[in-house]
Amino acid sequence: MDVLDFVTKNLNPAQKDAVETLEGPLLILAGAGSGKTRVLTHRMANMIGQGVAASDEILCVTFTNKAAKEMEHRIYKILSDMGAVVQTQLWISTFHSFCVRVLRQHITLLDYKPFFGIYDSSDQLSQIKKVMTALDINDKMYPAKNFQSRISSAKMMGLSPEGLEKSSKRLMDQKTVEVYKAYEREMKKANSLDFDDLLLKTYDLFRMYPDVLQMYQKKFRYIMVDEYQDTNHIQYLLVQMLASAHRNLCVVGDEDQSIYSWRGADIKNILDFEKDFRDAKVIKLEENYRSSANIVNGATAVIKNNSQRKDKTLFTSNDPGDLIHVREEKNEYEEGRFVAKTIQSMMNEGEGSYNDYAIFYRTNAQSRVLEEQLRTMGIPYRLVGGVRFYERMEIKDMISYLKLSINPADDIALKRIINVPARGIGKTTIEKIEEYAAHKNLSMFEAAEKACEERLFNAGTTGKIRRFIDLMKDLQQNAQHLKLLEFFAVVLDRTEYLAALKKDESPESQARIENLEELDNAIAQFVQERGEESTLISFLEEMALVNDVDSLDQEQNSVTMMTLHISKGLEYPYVFVVGLEENLFPSARSAESDNEQDVEEERRLAYVGMTRARQKLWLTYAKMRRVWGQEQFNPPSRFIKEIPQNLIDFKTSAEAPRFMARYGSSSYDSDFGGTPKWGATSSDRNRARTQSYDDAQDFPDYENDGAGSAPFSKGMRVRHPTFGVGTVYATEGTGENFKVSVMFTDNTVKKFVVKYARLERV
Ligand code: ATP
Ligand code: MG
Repeated sequence: MDVLDFVTKNLNPAQKDAVETLEGPLLILAGAGSGKTRVLTHRMANMIGQGVAASDEILCVTFTNKAAKEMEHRIYKILSDMGAVVQTQLWISTFHSFCVRVLRQHITLLDYKPFFGIYDSSDQLSQIKKVMTALDINDKMYPAKNFQSRISSAKMMGLSPEGLEKSSKRLMDQKTVEVYKAYEREMKKANSLDFDDLLLKTYDLFRMYPDVLQMYQKKFRYIMVDEYQDTNHIQYLLVQMLASAHRNLCVVGDEDQSIYSWRGADIKNILDFEKDFRDAKVIKLEENYRSSANIVNGATAVIKNNSQRKDKTLFTSNDPGDLIHVREEKNEYEEGRFVAKTIQSMMNEGEGSYNDYAIFYRTNAQSRVLEEQLRTMGIPYRLVGGVRFYERMEIKDMISYLKLSINPADDIALKRIINVPARGIGKTTIEKIEEYAAHKNLSMFEAAEKACEERLFNAGTTGKIRRFIDLMKDLQQNAQHLKLLEFFAVVLDRTEYLAALKKDESPESQARIENLEELDNAIAQFVQERGEESTLISFLEEMALVNDVDSLDQEQNSVTMMTLHISKGLEYPYVFVVGLEENLFPSARSAESDNEQDVEEERRLAYVGMTRARQKLWLTYAKMRRVWGQEQFNPPSRFIKEIPQNLIDFKTSAEAPRFMARYGSSSYDSDFGGTPKWGATSSDRNRARTQSYDDAQDFPDYENDGAGSAPFSKGMRVRHPTFGVGTVYATEGTGENFKVSVMFTDNTVKKFVVKYARLERV
């Protein structure tokens, strides 16, 4: 059989067309589960198999590392089934991994050293706090997290501190520029990049060194991007740059699944593709192969309520299957119990294995109750996201040792472990070293050494610092010649980290030791996978780039739990989407927002969640839910209401008052608005609503501190007659001088003296 026939034998005509169209710009726009990712895989296999392009002449960008690995795996499989052999490594990766690969080669041009470190968001926050202290900026008035998200947004727009400075007028912006500038200096000194830098520096590199760009433009004759609807501006620019020479760019996506605007994703990138490339060919895939017909139709009905979309057809030849199960429960505990019980009884009837079940929720905080219920029933589960493995204290400590062993300039790593395990180096000493480093423009490591030479500290302290420096120098040397696993054993031993944990017999320490063993396993596995290439630097890179979903080990037999955001691209036979209540999903912020776009993004999230299910889908909600210790009564989510009733099998638990019993009747609508039976007055609900329900990650700018008795407190929603609705973002002063800073929906911040401002709570 010839290659093309082989590669396309399991594809429908539209998919086949997409696989065969190789030259010129191509947009594949299609609904969930229509085989977009599958098309990319087969397209790449086809090109390599036919010899149209060498395997390293095609760049394929995926949304997660896991997706990249899966795709690579499939391509190898297809090619080996055909008897073809892949000669070189494939370029299938996320944007971030791609950029790391480029930067390792060329970053010296930007005046960094090639072994640069990568900071995750908590390292980044520490760095920002450090900078703020040096600049004497008050963390209360200007929370570090705000700067973090502002700097990140600027970088995602491709803006340097100078670029941001030019475009900013407001006070907060000026402060941001100040912090951003100092932050950049510190990062350079630490020879480290944050996640956004990986993209931005690559962009800078390509802009400043056209010959480097040209080399990659020539090399990648074909470029493909999956999940294009969730690219941000800088990713867009990178794609444009790389594809501009050959113009063989194929992007696939679904505007209905754009759910990362809070992280800078711009839905316009996909909506405007045909404007960017006037000669673009557009292929629509309209058949869903993933889900039962009831699920496809239910999800389609929901997403139809969005205005910002292209009208698409999505049909399926699959059986109708079960109706969509909608379940009302009394509270979140009952909801959790219902989910656990359902899984248990289905398992008892032999339906699938635990791996086939997934539970999705809107915010991480919802997982705790669900976990409790699953544990009670002895159902194995794993949590994707939440406190991630690599964010655990002992893991971060150990990684910091590893980082400092190859990059002594990494001050954040140094600060983290200089006194861990305890070496008697106190906070004041560390601060002094830091000041001294700033003063002499040295890294803290160099400064510590110099301080010892110059006897800045008393003999006792000097001795302790010396011992730390000697330890690190010893590790730095060992890092050069030892194999990765051996080196890790040396680090565990010589730092006495493990010994310290062993001495402490608490169960907590035991758990930490187990986690370190797990890290050891991870390294062993890495070595096994990579062989000769498994250097310390490549390991740290991999650690930095794994994201939530990548840690998903499909082998392990357990129920998967994750936020809806992480579920994109995945599929499971049985799916539960929980917490479908107004002010939770859609979130309070979006439900109240005057901006219809916010609700539309939540609706896309609902669409993503529903379309992950292959055979059965449950949507559950609780009539009462505790949030920050307060009882909240929220109506069922509008998204449930948007599903045609004939696709729904509605049940309420026996214990609960049969509030929705007349679900099918005409009084359905009025019930939805909330009846007195719920026992909440609207002012109760308003009060409850001011508590932030949202994922902190989604809205790093808002933190609820439940502040005292002042009329307005942080996090509260207010209305101003001129500026509209906003959120109180900081408060200061008392009595007559009580002032609030409010961030309005267009992101402008205004400060008011409460006495004079006509602010009201909403
Ligand atoms: P999403 O929008 O969720 O990312 P997608 O459009 O990328 O979905 P895929 O994940 O590629 O869709 O495919 C969904 C499911 O349908 C997969 O299990 C895939 O193997 C299957 N599938 C796709 N095309 C076909 C086909 N022509 N015949 C049979 N199964 C198919
Ligand atoms: Mg896909």
